Amino acid sequence: PRLANQIAAGEVVERPASVVKELLENALDAGARKVDIDVESGGVKLIRIRDDGEGIHCDDLPLALSRHATSKIEELEDLEAVASLGFRGEALASISSVSRLTLASKQRSSEQGWSVYAEGRDMATQVSPAAHPQGTTVEMRDLFFNTPARRKFLKTEKTEFGHLEEVVKRQALSRFETAFTLRHNQKVVLGLRPAVSVRDKEMRVASVCGKAFMENTTPIQIQASGMHLYGWVALPTFSRSQADLQYFFVNGRVIRDKLVTHAIRQAYQDVLYHGRHPAYVLYLDLDPASVDVNVHPTKHEVRFRDGRMVHDFIFRSLHKALADVRP
Ligand code: ADP
Ligand code: MG
Repeated sequence: PRLANQIAAGEVVERPASVVKELLENALDAGARKVDIDVESGGVKLIRIRDDGEGIHCDDLPLALSRHATSKIEELEDLEAVASLGFRGEALASISSVSRLTLASKQRSSEQGWSVYAEGRDMATQVSPAAHPQGTTVEMRDLFFNTPARRKFLKTEKTEFGHLEEVVKRQALSRFETAFTLRHNQKVVLGLRPAVSVRDKEMRVASVCGKAFMENTTPIQIQASGMHLYGWVALPTFSRSQADLQYFFVNGRVIRDKLVTHAIRQAYQDVLYHGRHPAYVLYLDLDPASVDVNVHPTKHEVRFRDGRMVHDFIFRSLHKALADVRP
């Protein structure tokens, strides 16, 4: 089965950023209020993620590393509800099959923390006692140490860390109530306290997207026909320094969608922002039954039941907000 894991790993584990994505989703699924991420050498040497979530029972620790051991689907119906971010039950198995992985955890009710270690295809079946506060730490070292062909495809430390940081930023923008710390080679890159008030949230957006973005945006806050669109859109005074500042979340999950992008660009062009590349952090909340967010588990695609209505709503909302602040 470990061999099967290595094969399956190709789908999930492409680079350090994919590891962080899966581990972060697990931490958030576990109800973490605080997540600490330590990274060395772009994530190839070390990725350590510690959360203060519900933890894993010591009996379940080895199970968590085995394939298709998800605790998240009780009934098939759940697949449609997709209350949790992960549901495939193979991320930890895949990651551990191509790295050296320690999983340590403590549940509130247990007196003692426990850990389990896996090195590539060899998995320790024995759990050992470990000093650990409530929550879970996943420590991944030496990514692709046993798959040199895969390691060859990794880019420079800087590029890999860039991808990884992007994953953390997306989560940070979708989970304001959770504190995040990201360190790279012992240096704090992101330090985000829980954000509750609008002011706190704006500060977080400024930390993640840059002060210049926050200072040159107009807030959006529109509700109609069961949909709620809110967030921040850049004004023409914002001169973009980084490649892409386009974050769109549907019911809390980051997505990339042609229909959404089109609606936003259309509104931009219509008002006066000709030739400008829109920059935004936007959140669309709507009835979960009217959107399928699991078209593809990793590509962040969605399918709206009524795409036209969603498109028009986004277009009209942005159009109004931008026209209102037109100089
Ligand atoms: P999935 O998330 O799809 O269920 P994973 O391989 O990512 O599969 O995780 C396997 C299981 O391990 C999860 O279902 C969960 O029960 C447990 N688990 C993993 N990470 C954590 C965590 N940080 N906190 C609590 N439980 C976790
Ligand atoms: Mg998962």
